[in-house]
Parts: sequence; C-alpha cells; structure tokens
Amino acid sequence: MTKKNSEKRKTFRQNVEAFVDDAIIKLKISEDISKIIKACRSVIQLKFPVKIKGKIQIFRGWRAIHSTHRLPTKGGLRFSPDINQDEVEALSALMSYKCAIVDVPFGGAKGGLKIKPSNFSDNELEIITKKFTRELTRRGTLSPARDVPAPDVGTNPKMMSWICDAYKSLHPEDINWMSVATGKPLEHGGIRGRLQATGRGVHQAMKEFFRHPDELKKYKLDANYENKKVSIQGFGNVGSNTARSLNEDGIKIICISEREGMIFDKNGINISNLIEYKEKKGTINGFPDGNFEKNPDKSLYVNCDILIPAALENAIVLQNVNKIKAKLIVEAANGPISFRANSELIKKNIPILPDIYANAGGVFVSYMEWIRGISHIRLGRMNRRYEENRGREIVEAINQITDKKISKKSIQSIVYGAKEEDIVNSGLEDSMRTAFQEIKTMKNKFKLKDYRTAAYGIAIKKLEKSYLELGL
Ligand code: GLU
Repeated sequence: MTKKNSEKRKTFRQNVEAFVDDAIIKLKISEDISKIIKACRSVIQLKFPVKIKGKIQIFRGWRAIHSTHRLPTKGGLRFSPDINQDEVEALSALMSYKCAIVDVPFGGAKGGLKIKPSNFSDNELEIITKKFTRELTRRGTLSPARDVPAPDVGTNPKMMSWICDAYKSLHPEDINWMSVATGKPLEHGGIRGRLQATGRGVHQAMKEFFRHPDELKKYKLDANYENKKVSIQGFGNVGSNTARSLNEDGIKIICISEREGMIFDKNGINISNLIEYKEKKGTINGFPDGNFEKNPDKSLYVNCDILIPAALENAIVLQNVNKIKAKLIVEAANGPISFRANSELIKKNIPILPDIYANAGGVFVSYMEWIRGISHIRLGRMNRRYEENRGREIVEAINQITDKKISKKSIQSIVYGAKEEDIVNSGLEDSMRTAFQEIKTMKNKFKLKDYRTAAYGIAIKKLEKSYLELGL
C-alpha cells in the first residue's frame, strides 16, 4: 500500500462517522444534530486480574454506550484478540442506528474483551466472563434496565447465561435478572428463534428487496429470486444461519468461506451437511463435496449474483473492491464495506442492503427475549390453546352449513395456535419488511442512489426527533 493510501485509510469508527456525515449532507439535516448523534456517550475501559492456571493475567475490556435516548442500551459483547476501543465505539454506533431502523426501543451499546477464546478452557472462560460481568455491574453499567449485552463474534449463548448468573449474585433482589443479557440458551431464559434470528433476518431483507420490481429495475435485476447464486463470506452463527435459511427456500449457495479456507460448488453446497460437518470437525476443511480452496478471500470475488459478507468489518475496501463481481451485496456482518469502497460500488450501480438494516434481525429478536424476561412468560403461552379451540369451532361451523369438505391442510392451518417461534418469526418478518419499505420511501423521496444513505437517514431522523423531544 502506498503511503498516500495508508494515510487516507479510515478507522472503523471513522468509516461509520463518514456514512453519518454523508447522510446528513444529502438529507440536509442540521450539522449540530450530526455532532450529537456521532458522539459516543461513554466508554468504560476495564483492566481486571484473573488467576489462570495459578498465574495472574490482566484482561482488558470495554463497554461503549453510544446513545441513551432509550434505555436499556443494547448490543453484543465481542471476544477477540484484535479488539480495540475504536472498534467497540463503531459497533456501538451501528447498534443505535440498527435499533432505530427496526423500531426497537433501545439505545446502542457494544462491549469487547481482548482475548482469544480458543486459548482458554470453558471453565477459564466462565471465570473470566463472570469477573468481567461483576466489574461492569459494580460500576452500574450492566442491568436489565440500563445495558443489556448479547452474543457477538467470539461469544455464545452459554456465556450469556454466565453473565446472568454473575449479575444475579450481585443483585439477587432484581426480579428481572434474566433480562440482563439476551441470546441465552433456551433452558436459561432464551427465546426460540434468537440463535437463527440474524440469519433469518438477512434472508427476509433479501426477500423483501426482490418483492419490489421498481427497485430491481434500477439495478437491472430480475425478480426471479430463487434462481440466484449466492456466496457467503463467514460461517459462524450469522453466516451458517443465513445459508440455512436461504437454502430452505431453495436458493443455491455456491461458495462459503471461513478463516481457514472456502468451499466452492457450482451446483450448490448441501448446507445441512456442511453445518453438520463443521459441528463435528470444527472446520469446513476436508468437506467431501465441492472444491476446497485455502484463500478464504476468494469467496468475495466469485462469480455470483448475491454476495453476503458475514464475517468482520472492512472485508471490502478500496484495494479489493474492483474484484467484486456480485450484482447485489447484503451485509450480514457489521461494517464489512469501507466508506470509500462503498462509493465505488455505488458508482458501479451495485445495490447494497446495509448492515444497519440487513442484520438487525438479531437485535429485534433480542428485544422479544428481553420482553419475555421482564414479563416472565413465554410468548403465546396465554392464547395458544384458545386460538386452537376457536379454529376448531370455525371448522365445525363451516362443516354444519356446507356439505363441501375442507381439505386436511386447511383444517390444520385453521386449527393451529401460534407457538413462540411462530410469533418470533412473524415479528421478525414484519420488522424487516416494514423497515425496507421505509428505507425505499426515504431513498425515493430524496432521490438517493443507495439504500445505506436512506437507512442512515431514517435512523438519524428518529434519533434527532427523540433527542429534541427529550431535551439534549
Ligand atoms: N451482536 C448482535 C449485533 O451486532 C446482536 C446485538 C443484540 O442482540 O443485542 O447486532
């Protein structure tokens, strides 16, 4: 990289701020608002000791609270050896915008711990996570009413239940302790569908985009959604659940990558088999079908219709943007495209469904899990049998007034009370569809070229309204 290029390279936080500034200019929003919105309200940095294998180790972690116009603040907790304050702040800002876009009444936050999880045993991770939780709780940061983490890169449902347990030990009187974290295991207050939510949301976002022929026409895309070939960069929770959800809809995934390499199969990868293989072996390397290739970056450059970056930030930057061949990009990861790469893709008229919209399904279902926790009842528990009984009465009434037979399938769907996962998925679908329609309206109203500026515009306007109404 030349010196000139490296000097210009923005940090992740600067990239996010550049997107905000760009939207502010294009939507003619006051610059003062931009200052309020961009400022990360507080960042706490912690250094805490933990004894591991008889030796003291000092761990460093952060929790950034980007906006507090709504409480609690919400956002994942990332465990990674490369994490830094800039990244945590950028991710917390994305959380504020994401929540605003899908109308989740939370502020934005994000946490990070500088640690390589694979270097520690489960038992050690539990001790470290609980210590981190206690340190945050003691400072008043973490609580079901103030700030609620969830899984992110390097963290998982089990860790969320450790967080709840550590919080409860300090606040046994808090009846809502279960809602101090979301993305928990089902046996510990989790909600059905949360694990799959981000991936399913990405799928819903894409599906909704293909329901708008007027938009497709602008990018010379046809509405034949099922025929599209997809490449996914990243096979963690988000990548694998996106792949599974698309595959269940009959869409071909021709390429999938993870850190160690990628699998390519022009006839489509059998996703269930690949997931099963990875669960057993811990890697996709050695999967018997398709071709394995060591360089995972190539998954970004394959000849496909839809590219889904589902790994980390800055996957597509100025240096590699010209290699992208996809006709549509759906951002399942947070911040996968840099500001400058984004401008190049807009010039090429490649549509992008941006992270703050496309991957918001996760936090939407977290919101449902939080509600479930504070209301202490499973969704659907009160009315499921009632709905079933009503359905049965409707079928009987129809049977009495006509001799025509209702098909078994219709009877089944009339006599069906929604289960928790049905309610979750229906809420998720509604949020993703409504949000796209709002983004489209904003895009057309301001004659914008891209969905990202429109999405930022919506988020900024919602935040602006809420700040001005509350008082700064
Ligand atoms: N880590 C996820 C995200 O980046 C989920 C956040 C949450 O559910 O609070 O959106």
